[in-house]
Amino acid sequence: MAKEIEEAIGVDKVFTEPFVRICYSRDWSVRPASDVCLPDLVVRPTSTDDVVNVVKIANRHKAPVVPCGGLTGMAGGAVPTKGGIVIDTKGMDKVLEVDEANLTATVQAGITIAKLNEELERYGLWFPHDPESKLVSTLGAAIACRSDSTFGIKYGKIEQALINSVVVTGSGDAIRVGHRKTLISSSGYQLHWLFIASEGTLGIITEATIRVFPKPKARAIEMIAFPSLVKAAQAVNRMVQAGISLESVNIMCKDRFRYYTHEYAIKYGREAKAPEWAKGVLCMTINGDLDVVNFMRDYALKICKELGGFPIEEREIVDAWWTHKHTLAFEPFKQSWPDSQRLSRFGAADVSIPQGRLDEAYERYKELVFKHGLNVLGMNVYVQAPYSVHTSVSFAVYVDDKDPDQVRRFYDYVRDMALYAISVGGSMTSYQGDGEKFGGFCREEHGEAFKYMTMIKEAFDPNGIMNPGKKFGPPKWIKQERN
Ligand SMILES: Cc1cc2nc3c(=O)[nH]c(=O)nc-3n(C[C@H](O)[C@H](O)[C@H](O)COP(=O)(O)OP(=O)(O)OC[C@H]3O[C@@H](n4cnc5c(N)ncnc54)[C@H](O)[C@@H]3O)c2cc1C
Repeated sequence: MAKEIEEAIGVDKVFTEPFVRICYSRDWSVRPASDVCLPDLVVRPTSTDDVVNVVKIANRHKAPVVPCGGLTGMAGGAVPTKGGIVIDTKGMDKVLEVDEANLTATVQAGITIAKLNEELERYGLWFPHDPESKLVSTLGAAIACRSDSTFGIKYGKIEQALINSVVVTGSGDAIRVGHRKTLISSSGYQLHWLFIASEGTLGIITEATIRVFPKPKARAIEMIAFPSLVKAAQAVNRMVQAGISLESVNIMCKDRFRYYTHEYAIKYGREAKAPEWAKGVLCMTINGDLDVVNFMRDYALKICKELGGFPIEEREIVDAWWTHKHTLAFEPFKQSWPDSQRLSRFGAADVSIPQGRLDEAYERYKELVFKHGLNVLGMNVYVQAPYSVHTSVSFAVYVDDKDPDQVRRFYDYVRDMALYAISVGGSMTSYQGDGEKFGGFCREEHGEAFKYMTMIKEAFDPNGIMNPGKKFGPPKWIKQERN
């Protein structure tokens, strides 16, 4: 098969060496070091035609095809489960068109979000779909995982930005799904949305046309301590209702606050302080023209104070959060080898919780962490729907993935948090997708609709070669039976 692919797309784009294949056997998901499944080969296409050729050959051999971007996914989505071909999309990283008049950009899907923004900068434009992993994570994966953005409360999830994409289906057809230069259409089925959160199980996204925005002129950054998480969420609702154009919102518990301000502690030799009584810290930004931003910031702080909030005045603390959120210069994310081999790492149940249940969910999180013998890293609420409080909540723990028993307990904890989230009307996964982690277990959330999802899968991927073991199971780590 490798020979056929080399002939079709060029020898320089095909890799069979074990040291290359091993680099593609892991992503950021928690797994013991011994858990390795190598792909048979890795290809690095540079065009949609290359991808079409590879998928057609894979179909003839019934070989699994696993697309990957920056491998920062935390659900095992890009990890091969049955060998086969990994398609590394990062060779497709060109900007094809910037349409300044219509505020759209057409790009290849393997471009990282950071590179896309560097290119847009030349036009004074900005793509605000901005995950914390932007330096490495790709646009194709932002679509394939329905990832979260720092600026979600204003600009939404990826569907608010995606106008169309080119995908190579599991049968090897290249199709353009979506519309031309406008978001607004009721023609046909909205197939471009079907590929959002599809995690490479229906096809490979090779190009996308997205909305872009003029770069905002000014930004205010504030942090306000609240007596409860729900109170902080109520303040956000009140600000939205008042017409304040919030650009980003995070609500975190004290543990997560400590984690996000870790660099402050190192720099100044003291912990960043929030009041003793505070249960939640609201971190927010407002963007726009300077005078408007200043007015909105003052009005926002007035609302927060009326609702029992207490602004954190020390600018160094506020700036530490904002800077390090973008540079990821905090433990344990910045662990590089050999530290990453010695220290516990970040692991999380990332779920969606209805806003009125946040305090209850926080208590449940602490109970479950204790039950499974893990350690709390902290909770962070990312607000992800435009002008409303729809949450994506990271309930994080420390995990030592050298210890297989701890890895097992971690996934038991993740399963229990997922079932809890569903039971209160939330969702078991808010931005990572189902991946290998929840593959098939997502039936718990979707019931009978799961059957229709399998039919859609068959329509796009008749030979079942696209990213096997993901979404449709069987779940690798999560035990199916309820506790
Ligand atoms: C330090 C850190 C911070 C993070 N912060 C955030 C955050 O703020 N917000 C957030 O949402 N996530 C975050 N994540 C998770 C992760 O970055 C996102 O899920 C991201 O979208 C994954 O991008 P990637 O390019 O690394 O994809 P990969 O991990 O390579 O792939 C992820 C999934 O997408 C599929 N896929 C990739 N490319 C394509 C394609 N072109 N076509 C079809 N399927 C494809 C893969 O098969 C896999 O299922 C973070 C991760 C880390 C490690």
